[in-house]
Amino acid sequence: MAIDDRSEAIGDRRSHLATYNDTEVSVPILAAVMPAPHQPIEIREFARPVLPSGGALLRTARSEVCGTDVHLWHGRLSGVPYPIIPGHVSAGTLESVHGQLNALDGSTLREGDRVVFFDVHRTCGQCRACTVHRTPTRCPSRRVYGITDPAGEGLLGGWAQYIYLEPGVGVARLPDSVGFDDYIGGGCGLLTAVHIIERASMREGESVVVQGTGAVGLSAIALARLAGASVIIAIGDPSPRLDLALQMGADVALSIGSTTAEERLQTVRERTYDEGADVVIEAAGSARAVEEGVTLVRDGGRYVIAGHYTDVGPSAINAHRHINRKHLEIRGCWGSEARHFVRAVELLEQHASAIPWRSIGARTYSLGQLDAALADAEAMTITKALVDPWA
Ligand SMILES: [Zn+2]
Ligand SMILES: [Zn+2]
Repeated sequence: MAIDDRSEAIGDRRSHLATYNDTEVSVPILAAVMPAPHQPIEIREFARPVLPSGGALLRTARSEVCGTDVHLWHGRLSGVPYPIIPGHVSAGTLESVHGQLNALDGSTLREGDRVVFFDVHRTCGQCRACTVHRTPTRCPSRRVYGITDPAGEGLLGGWAQYIYLEPGVGVARLPDSVGFDDYIGGGCGLLTAVHIIERASMREGESVVVQGTGAVGLSAIALARLAGASVIIAIGDPSPRLDLALQMGADVALSIGSTTAEERLQTVRERTYDEGADVVIEAAGSARAVEEGVTLVRDGGRYVIAGHYTDVGPSAINAHRHINRKHLEIRGCWGSEARHFVRAVELLEQHASAIPWRSIGARTYSLGQLDAALADAEAMTITKALVDPWA
């Protein structure tokens, strides 16, 4: 890549960034770059960064291809600084550390430690979103590895043999009992699900409907079960994902393709004293799902919308029948915070041996196979593609 172009792009962010050791004759680092929407993925060579104090280089063991990457590929997210190195949730081993690097629990991290990091960085802590409203996922300074970090600034995405962890990135030690494939099987969907359950104000004994059986919906099912749900009804497709939904803790898994909306409503009513569910979680990303979701939730219940990460157009809702008279709470859920990341790691440590997060990661792809991985993810032939940049 062109070093000169990069130094211009760095601008006033220079203090955050690693400089690049142009003189060191070393093996270049390979990364898969998404040059622009609809373009084939390119493998490019990157120089090994010279780390600033508090910075680290992570040798990537696993990254992932998630639904967001498919959206990035189709240009459906605004404000993405292409070209980018995708892969926002990743795991690996610390290759080198410059100076002191502490995990989020305060412990000192050293080279050779297995770690994971929170993909959201540069949340400012000073703007109105951060301080007044306490909604840091809406901070305008916030950046996300693999999504809003340009490839021109270096190894800031997981589809790469190494990832640069800039000073201030939240890092956690991966517990010995949690494999890289467990962590990435949960991945971003698990972090999102931790936030969803928090937004849903889940209480023991409540009934839950989860719309969508992708990575977010599957983790939401598992966490609703851990939170003490009485009954969990999953709605999704295709059938391997419905089987996985049952393994993750759903009591019932309904195929969206082979049941009618009336049949789904009837099933939910039969399991909820003819009331509808206490909590409905939207993790489908479909405008029609929202129209159905407001009918599946009980009067006075909570509806958490987390699947509309991109704009899929309007949903038709009758404000009188579906919100006002129903006394319904509709809550959005955007992104995740460091506490959701830390809790996700802790949940995996406690439960990865019993809950099959690992099974969400269906197949592992090399850097040269990522066009195929994106196509497979889009076609839903797999739930989630894992990336092994050393394969
Ligand atoms: Zn802020
Ligand atoms: Zn993701």
